[in-house]
Amino acid sequence: MNTGTSEKLLALIPQSGWRRVLTPHGTGLRRWAPMLPLGCLLLALSGSSCFILHRDLPSRSFRSMGGMATVTLGTADADRIEPVTRQVQVIFDRLEQELSTYRSDSTISLLANKAGVTPIAVSEDTLQVLSVARHFGELSEGAFDVTVAPLVNLYGFGKSPTPAAFPSEAVIREQLTLVDYRKLLLKDRTAFLPLKGMAVDLGGIAKGYAVDRAFDSCRSARVEDFLIDLSGNIRVYGRPQWGEDWQIGVRDPFDRSRIIGKVTLRSGMALATSGSYERFVEMGGQRYSHIINPKTGYPISGTAGVTILAEDATTADGWSTAFFIAGLKGTDKFRQKTPSVDVLIVPDKYPTEIWVTPGLAKVFVPLPEFSEAMRLLHP
Ligand code: ADP
Ligand code: MG
Repeated sequence: MNTGTSEKLLALIPQSGWRRVLTPHGTGLRRWAPMLPLGCLLLALSGSSCFILHRDLPSRSFRSMGGMATVTLGTADADRIEPVTRQVQVIFDRLEQELSTYRSDSTISLLANKAGVTPIAVSEDTLQVLSVARHFGELSEGAFDVTVAPLVNLYGFGKSPTPAAFPSEAVIREQLTLVDYRKLLLKDRTAFLPLKGMAVDLGGIAKGYAVDRAFDSCRSARVEDFLIDLSGNIRVYGRPQWGEDWQIGVRDPFDRSRIIGKVTLRSGMALATSGSYERFVEMGGQRYSHIINPKTGYPISGTAGVTILAEDATTADGWSTAFFIAGLKGTDKFRQKTPSVDVLIVPDKYPTEIWVTPGLAKVFVPLPEFSEAMRLLHP
């Protein structure tokens, strides 16, 4: 069984749940080219869910936290690209060391090893990200559940291999008894999981948190115009150059080679995307997404992509996962809890529909071929 990557998706023939025929690489961008300001060119086409669309700005990419990170500076700060990139990389690498489930020596792995045994001491950052994650559990009424790790592992998204056949109801139910964010105890700079077999998975929030810490550090160093992207978790400050705003292309969840439109980001704002096309596994000829419903224990279906616009990257990341789980039908409930967050949601259906909240409608310009697909989520 395979854990699919975004690159791989292009080479695969679509199966059920992936109903659009994939078009040749680049088609979408060529069609969109007339909409771009003169001289605009594609700066980065990373493996993530967004394209950074900009003129010839200084930019550096590196691998961190299981994906690609990119730092881009506005023209005013161009000569600082090397030290600023190093500064961001140090922050991402330190957080990866603490928060990764894949590293056996991370704080998060130690927390799982000591589950049911003893609390462990955690750093200020780990404590912070765990408590924000638990708070998201409350806000989303358990849709976002940081203790979802046993289910993530069950389907082969974690360290264990993907099973040949879909797990039985009994096995899923057994793992579900280990999933409940309310049981995660945080006290006096310690964390504790009370049941052996419990573990946390910060994959739905840690990258957003890391982007915010890097953002703060760049602000402290008085970098005036920058964009930080960690696997599609983006936050910007200032502007690319005088008179312009940062612009991000949102990938078509059914065709990774093109975008559905672009978002203009105001200084300080963040954008995050969750997509079923980024990571998936195959069992019995079917594809399953890497986001799991902690109530049922099953991988989520029905949503192809969610993009969140928020005032910080942690909020955008957490809600992108939660709205992905809620799906189009569940958006109203969550929007009441989080009115300052704007949402773009693409259900997994054909023909494509792009649902946006009024705030996102103001800053999102669809590709001409998607203008008919736009739908407004009522205020
Ligand atoms: P991506 O990792 O593609 O950026 P997300 O931010 O939505 O997308 O995070 C998805 C990750 O969140 C999964 O890979 C997994 O580690 C974790 N996850 C899966 N289901 C849940 C859930 N119900 N609640 C919290 N985290 C989850
Ligand atoms: Mg997320």
